[in-house]
Amino acid sequence: FDDIAHPVAIGIAFAGGGTVLPRTSGLPDAWFEHDGQITKRPVRALTLSALAPKPGETLWDIGAGSGSIGIEWLLSHPSTNAMAFEADPVRADRIRNNAAALGVDRLQVVEGRAPGALADQAIPDAVFIGGGLSDAMLDALWKALPAGARLVANAVTLESEALLAGWHAAKGGTLMRIELSDAAPLGTRRGWRASFPVVQWSVVS
Ligand code: SAH
Repeated sequence: FDDIAHPVAIGIAFAGGGTVLPRTSGLPDAWFEHDGQITKRPVRALTLSALAPKPGETLWDIGAGSGSIGIEWLLSHPSTNAMAFEADPVRADRIRNNAAALGVDRLQVVEGRAPGALADQAIPDAVFIGGGLSDAMLDALWKALPAGARLVANAVTLESEALLAGWHAAKGGTLMRIELSDAAPLGTRRGWRASFPVVQWSVVS
């Protein structure tokens, strides 16, 4: 490799035809086994940005689904920790497989229903709610979290959106509506196919 000027070029030469894991959050959905219940790539990237993982920090990923959020949190730095809470046992198994396949088997999977399942777990620096959003869930978290913890919640239904609007009015933070469209075939041409809007509340407790 004497004639290769940059180490980066050597890395690419060795990568051959295999798949290469990007360093950024918002990996393609295909890196995760899932049954359709997954936070899609662009929304996942925005969610990780809001969660803002730092070395040594711990995340609670509540309603973890495929585990994609907790896994990307762990990929951000080898010293991070994460707990995935998932009520569905089939999905909990899938989360373990996804974590192992992506080299972050330190993901702790808690099979059970939050907020009950949150009791007695190591207190996190950040929490993501991707499933099971309710007043009871937010009440329990608000009581359990230390001052300074980050909380991010995504809502797709009108009911959970209304819930987040109420909590945003009471506690502040940032309420953001994410509306994405992809170009899709429309007859012989193309049109914008909209995804369901996602409302994201980010707040520091
Ligand atoms: N962020 C996930 C997708 C979440 S889908 C991903 O990227 O893969 C929502 C998940 O929340 C579902 O798997 C559902 O089983 C789970 N869920 C719903 N209510 C829950 C609760 N109260 N406790 C734990 N999991 C819950």
